[in-house]
Amino acid sequence: MTQQPAVLVTGAGGFIGHHLTRYLVDKGYSVRGVDVKPPEYEPSPADDFRILDLRRWENCLEATRDMDHVYHLAANMGGIGFIETNKAVIVHDNTLINTHMVEAARRNGASRLLYTSSACVYPGYLQASPDVTPLKESDAYPADAEDGYGWEKLMAERLCRHYYEDYSLATYSVRFHNIFGPLGTYDGGREKSPAAICRKVAMAAEGDEIEVWGDGQQTRSYCYVSDCVEGLYRLMQSDYHEPINLGQDRMVTVDELVDMVATAAGKSIKKRHDLTKPQGVRGRNADLTLMRSVLGWEPTVRLEDGLASTYAWIKEQLERRAQQPVTGGRP
Ligand code: NAD
Repeated sequence: MTQQPAVLVTGAGGFIGHHLTRYLVDKGYSVRGVDVKPPEYEPSPADDFRILDLRRWENCLEATRDMDHVYHLAANMGGIGFIETNKAVIVHDNTLINTHMVEAARRNGASRLLYTSSACVYPGYLQASPDVTPLKESDAYPADAEDGYGWEKLMAERLCRHYYEDYSLATYSVRFHNIFGPLGTYDGGREKSPAAICRKVAMAAEGDEIEVWGDGQQTRSYCYVSDCVEGLYRLMQSDYHEPINLGQDRMVTVDELVDMVATAAGKSIKKRHDLTKPQGVRGRNADLTLMRSVLGWEPTVRLEDGLASTYAWIKEQLERRAQQPVTGGRP
């Protein structure tokens, strides 16, 4: 039997990194997980989980020592409310993390590094209308990425490309389109729209009104996390080293997303649109032609089904929290 490569997952204490760690462990890989914090909702299944701040060079060297395949997901990030108001710290932290991680992987002799980029690299001028044309990989240029987070992602994609061209490190860059599911942040300011909507609907009584950011007509496509980690794994086994989309191409408005969550909850919910809140680009959808041909695969989880399991998990978290005794530590 050939030996499985040793695998590192950075960001293993985060949402997608945690799911990916479980997926790889279940496949029989020996996984080292690294993050600046442990997973919030359940222990990491990693064989070796280390708390390391990857903004520091020596920690990146420690993280990558004796690793063959590096899934590099660690990033300071959050939903639109967070990324629009924290540009300096996002660009500062992630530039340090990515620069050190890629170089440390090379120095320690890793053979592959997969970098998780974002649909936020796509230009604002192609996303000005809700019925946007699906974005294909080449649309990223001429560049006009999301200010801060998007530019930093685009720069890191280029860094990966240079390492692939100049050194023997096989790099991969994947552009996620709105990944959601259980075990993701659902409150505190970093949550993304599906989790925030699930939380608001779970906390609402039958017939209540919830706040929706923007006019609700902005469009997105959403991809369930189990499909996301399957796609990541398939990409890492491939020979494709250019940036590639990973997501679904069923475009819905945010209002439609709210209605789907309300249906999953079995509640009738009214919407109060807050036009002062950030809503990001007006419309966004993914062109998945390349993903289908390179990976020979596409995501299968229906949006309604993914939302139902995400809603159930968030509702359970909120109920569990409500039952916890109030301690003196927290006001
Ligand atoms: P997440 O915030 O849950 O996970 C990121 C993890 O990185 C966190 O656990 C965080 O603690 C860790 N991290 C931050 N700073 C660190 C540091 N200095 N050292 C070590 N670890 C650090 O986010 P996620 O949704 O799981 O996203 C994973 C990756 O995918 C990120 O690179 C993100 O930019 C990218 N991405 C996600 C989405 C999405 O829809 N979730 C969309 C586009 C791109």
